[in-house]
Amino acid sequence: MSFEDYRGVWVFIEEKDGAIAPVSLELLGAGRQLADKRKTELAGVLIGENISALADRAFEYGADKVYVYDAPIYRFYRTETYMRAMLACVEKHKPEILLYGATSTGKDLASAVATDLPTGLTADTTQLDVEEDTGLLLASRPAFGGNIMATILCKKYRPQMATVRPKVMKALPRKVGASGVVVEECLPLREEDIRTKVLEIVRSTTRRIRIDEADVVVAGGKGLGSPAGFKIVEQLAEALGAAVGASRDVVEAGWIGHHHQVGQTGTTVTPKIYFAIGISGAIQHLVGMQNSGLIIAINKDPAAPIFQACHYGIVGDALTIVPMLTEAFKSA
Ligand code: FAD
Repeated sequence: MSFEDYRGVWVFIEEKDGAIAPVSLELLGAGRQLADKRKTELAGVLIGENISALADRAFEYGADKVYVYDAPIYRFYRTETYMRAMLACVEKHKPEILLYGATSTGKDLASAVATDLPTGLTADTTQLDVEEDTGLLLASRPAFGGNIMATILCKKYRPQMATVRPKVMKALPRKVGASGVVVEECLPLREEDIRTKVLEIVRSTTRRIRIDEADVVVAGGKGLGSPAGFKIVEQLAEALGAAVGASRDVVEAGWIGHHHQVGQTGTTVTPKIYFAIGISGAIQHLVGMQNSGLIIAINKDPAAPIFQACHYGIVGDALTIVPMLTEAFKSA
């Protein structure tokens, strides 16, 4: 494969509730740095219906160019339609590097695109760099249960593709009014040729705050003993207006859903305050919360590894301490 024709760093721009998803803004920030190092352009790929206006926002966050697929057939995310648009764009314009957010949409699209292109995909990365001269993407991610960081290279193929965890890269400050080049693309896709149909969208009615967006996360672990014990975490979270997080063992026990799981196989969070209650502090949990602003741990075992990772630690029984904290916050 000749690399000559492959140029530019691309970001799949995910749309969420009419705006660019935070992870895509973060990737534009990371992509800008890679593109500057390679002295090449940063482009976004925007797919959806009535989304063209979002290109302006992408320019304000660092993009030089945006490829836009705007048509009713892209109204809802479907693997097949989005994959076809992305494949067509890649084959036509040949990017050197293509990044996706490691969201459910980004992961699905990236793996679908990777099955059709003669290239690989580094999933769930947390660090990105590029070799200035060769253009080789250095995509790093935790490996072997989070004990080492593995840097994965795609030496023989282009584009080099990676999904990147939300909240690990930083968006650039917004440059209001920045402009760039919009390339409107069109594919002759017909609804009758697409195998999946969206029949109904059922929105979650839960009022719970998302852990990846919250300023405060109150997370509970297996040390709470039972679903009833875990309730004290939810009560403290409610008193603080915080999101509820959990260790994997709690999720596997069925005490709470997977989208509350923090860690290597869950979500990475960087809240201002993170409470780790009855959580031992296994490395797979730490990689998902260690960049939080302030970490407060409550654990009855003074030797628990979480005490090596926290700013404040309380040694004691969470079942006694947490209800007291909740009452104190309620009456404050
Ligand atoms: P435990 O390890 O059982 O710890 C319970 C803690 O509670 C102990 O420290 C104990 O001292 C304390 N305790 C007990 N009773 C009390 C009490 N009354 N008051 C206060 N403290 C008390 N884990 C994750 O969390 N997220 C992940 O994404 C994740 N991914 C993984 C991926 C892989 C490939 C593997 C192999 C593992 C992964 N794990 C993950 C699992 C991880 O290794 C740990 O098993 C898990 O985090 C432990 O959960 P825990 O701390 O709730 O439970």
